[in-house]
Amino acid sequence: MKILTFDVEEWFHVLDHGSTKNEKQWQNFDYRLDANIDSVLQILDKYNQKATFFCLGWLTKNHKHIVKRLDTLGYEIGTHSNLHQLVYEQNITEFRNDLDTSIKSLEDITGKKVRAYRAPGFSIKEENRWVFEELLSHGIEVDCSVFPAKRAHGGFRTFGAAEPVKIATNIGTIKEFPMSIDEVLMQKVVYAGGGYFRFFPYSMIRYFMDRSQYAMTYFHPHDFDAGRPIIGDLSPLKKFKASVGLKKALSKLETLISEYDFIDLDEAMKRVDWDFVKTIDLPERRKKQRLSNQIMLKDSYQNERRKHI
Ligand SMILES: [Zn+2]
Repeated sequence: MKILTFDVEEWFHVLDHGSTKNEKQWQNFDYRLDANIDSVLQILDKYNQKATFFCLGWLTKNHKHIVKRLDTLGYEIGTHSNLHQLVYEQNITEFRNDLDTSIKSLEDITGKKVRAYRAPGFSIKEENRWVFEELLSHGIEVDCSVFPAKRAHGGFRTFGAAEPVKIATNIGTIKEFPMSIDEVLMQKVVYAGGGYFRFFPYSMIRYFMDRSQYAMTYFHPHDFDAGRPIIGDLSPLKKFKASVGLKKALSKLETLISEYDFIDLDEAMKRVDWDFVKTIDLPERRKKQRLSNQIMLKDSYQNERRKHI
């Protein structure tokens, strides 16, 4: 099963960087998403491939027509949050508000229920797995935020195999399609998205794709924008990651899409026999979380008392 997904955001939605962190700063940059999404849609149309698009709720302010266009063309729309913040930097209230806004604003445009979610930067880690329960309580049925390896942002190293699973929470079960990862010489290798796809020669991408039973891709429209500006004050490593392989990326995508049959998330959910997949249980973790919440409550109570002394 090879699943095609795109995270729909602007080129300046760079995570964890001072000059691109919040919505106000984004006004300093030009929009390029219209042209970027055109290039992607032309290829999908040419090879008649389906895909799921995880859109930022923020798009519904200035790029409403793009969400509308994707929906009208029959593509499945999930949420990629509202304001593209790292989830592990948010508390529960901030996360809830952001998710709620994104779902409502996307549903307002499409008139369809948003069922799927992907966190910015795959930022669900072991420590903030409370997120799964929050997703369920907001009507999200399937998550694609787990990156089961080490990663600069997020990364859930203890998650286990990169395969579809169910995650049990206190209020029900959510379906999880993690990022697919291969292993070469005991090293985990990501190949099917973002800078990794741009970095590897296509022959290697093909090698990994051919031997994978399960491939979850994650592309961004700006991954294929050869003329994309690079934020000036990025570190040399971040500049490299942002620019590597940009010139050839679009033709590489076309080759990939011409060579393999992809499905969207909706179809993938139908093809998995959910009665037979592994369920990952959280109760033990949640006990720990409740305990740490109690400690935090105790601490804040003491701080309150100190203020009154
Ligand atoms: Zn993103």
